[in-house]
Amino acid sequence: MFAQRLAHVSASATLKVAAEAERLRRAGFNVVDFSAGEPDFPTPQHVKDAGKAAIDANFTRYTAAAGIPELREAVCARYKRDYGVEIAAAEVLMTAGGKQALFNTALALFDNGDEVITHAPYWPTIPEQVKLAGATPVIVQTRSEDGFAVDAEAMIRAITPRTKAIILNSPCNPTGALVDEATAGAITDAAAKRGIWMIVDLCYEQLIYEKVPHNLVRVLFDRHRDRTVIAGSASKSYAMTGWRCGWTIAPKELTSAFNTIQGQTTSNITSITQKAALAAVSGAQDSVVVMLNEYRKRRDSIHQWLTANPGIKCVMPGGAFYLFPDISGLLSPDGLKTSAEFAQALLEKEFVVVTPGEGFDAPGYLRISYATSMEQLREGATRILRFAESLQPAKAGVSR
Ligand code: PMP
Repeated sequence: MFAQRLAHVSASATLKVAAEAERLRRAGFNVVDFSAGEPDFPTPQHVKDAGKAAIDANFTRYTAAAGIPELREAVCARYKRDYGVEIAAAEVLMTAGGKQALFNTALALFDNGDEVITHAPYWPTIPEQVKLAGATPVIVQTRSEDGFAVDAEAMIRAITPRTKAIILNSPCNPTGALVDEATAGAITDAAAKRGIWMIVDLCYEQLIYEKVPHNLVRVLFDRHRDRTVIAGSASKSYAMTGWRCGWTIAPKELTSAFNTIQGQTTSNITSITQKAALAAVSGAQDSVVVMLNEYRKRRDSIHQWLTANPGIKCVMPGGAFYLFPDISGLLSPDGLKTSAEFAQALLEKEFVVVTPGEGFDAPGYLRISYATSMEQLREGATRILRFAESLQPAKAGVSR
């Protein structure tokens, strides 16, 4: 009955858990929710004020589909400050979040029969959008033993004559891993030789905990600028998920193609959002640092608490706001067999919501968002540890 393009596309795997959590919350249970994919901070005051001022000034009409010029220019100025690259406003298009940035890209570049390489564990939208555009995702696994580092050789080995693009996500949802500059450079060199597009999802670019070289924009621009797409977002950096603001940075001709697609679908992003985003991108960045420092404390705490149980192994994430522990040590053939079962039982017994790894192509793992208060993290960690101990005290080496 429905279009063929939907045949192989999955709905969000997190929805089932979220719905169950909501049911329990409504029933009056004290639920600790570690499933959030968004900051718990309010949008910074000066950003909210700019949005309010836009309404009061009746800035409530259509704008150019690509966004108001001053915002596109502000994005250029931000990338110049952050990465030392020159970008023209004609290379920037404002989108309803990073999601639309990536979807415009998929629609503009991918055809039936094309292959698009990306790395797993992944944010599910990435391969699902590839499929929606009619192309085939090709997945290269990363491993927790390697800190979920992307292996350039493995990515390059996955290239075939059908490869149209390679998508990198750094910092990565769900692993928090960063793609280092050398890896991005090696992959881009290989892509450049074959005319393959490089697409980088930098949605969490402001959420990097240690000062490490991570100028992927420059690395890609230096090698392959005419076939590079950067997808950015105000959602996580400025706690603006509900405002819906992202952008693409891409060659002028491709940006024109995005403009055509967006002009015939959603047109401009909300006019009010654009004024708020202008304040966010061009204004003081202090709130970004405050949030980053708070996330870092939370990351260190929850990591330390959870890894007290030897059945929980966890890479220290370099960015984003997720822990991605390997809990296979707590699974067994005669107990909880999968991370999905684990997450369901944890919800039923302890009312803690986590997202099972299955949805990220990583069975045996859980995604724990620490975009929540320290009190909730403490409480949730206590419950998870109690639950873990109740499972297999002998195997986990925990004495009672
Ligand atoms: N990329 C990644 C890796 C994400 O996790 C998200 C949000 N969960 C996005 C892009 C897009 O977010 P938004 O559309 O709110 O900008």
